[in-house]
Amino acid sequence: MSSILNQHVLVLNRLWQAVNVCTARRALTLLVQGHAQVVLDRQDGSFQTYNFNEWQDISEQEPHSESIRTISFRIRVPRVILLLVYEHMPKKEVKFTRHNIFERDKNTCQYCGSTCDRQDLNLDHVIPRDRGGPTTWENIVCSCIPCNTKKANCTPSEAGMHLIRKPKRPKWRPFIQINFGVPYHDSWKHFLDLAYWNVELGESVS
Ligand SMILES: [Zn+2]
Repeated sequence: MSSILNQHVLVLNRLWQAVNVCTARRALTLLVQGHAQVVLDRQDGSFQTYNFNEWQDISEQEPHSESIRTISFRIRVPRVILLLVYEHMPKKEVKFTRHNIFERDKNTCQYCGSTCDRQDLNLDHVIPRDRGGPTTWENIVCSCIPCNTKKANCTPSEAGMHLIRKPKRPKWRPFIQINFGVPYHDSWKHFLDLAYWNVELGESVS
């Protein structure tokens, strides 16, 4: 029973953003205290939440291998929980993430001004990396694939291209950034795919 209680549970905040990982023991405590609800993927693209009593009923009605048993009841170990309590969001600078760069540039190529789906936009180093261009707010812009290809390894002036706007650090509030050092459970995928856009970028971005 102890190992199952130490399993990792993904914690979502009230905006359904992945913010943390805790142990199943902690998750069950939060559930019993009414500070959290269990999030379950209903396999039809929807998610349902359960408070402690509802989760206890489900655990009895639909026995699951990942359950623990006490003298009086059986309860399934949650994999994702939703926090109901207010979590203070620390005031931080806007995180330097893919999501926030796309937000700042409004999914618009900063060379030709065309708006694209995110999968059709690259992040471009204005001054190329191998010419000393840093991975910073001031040197990274959204670029459509044709512009990116045309610019290749040149500076804008060498390529005869112009930025439609000087890239700057934005002033609006950041999204929460996460980076967990534990293996992911399948049921976390949906939430972590969202979080991909919110991971802070380092020098590794290309
Ligand atoms: Zn373009």
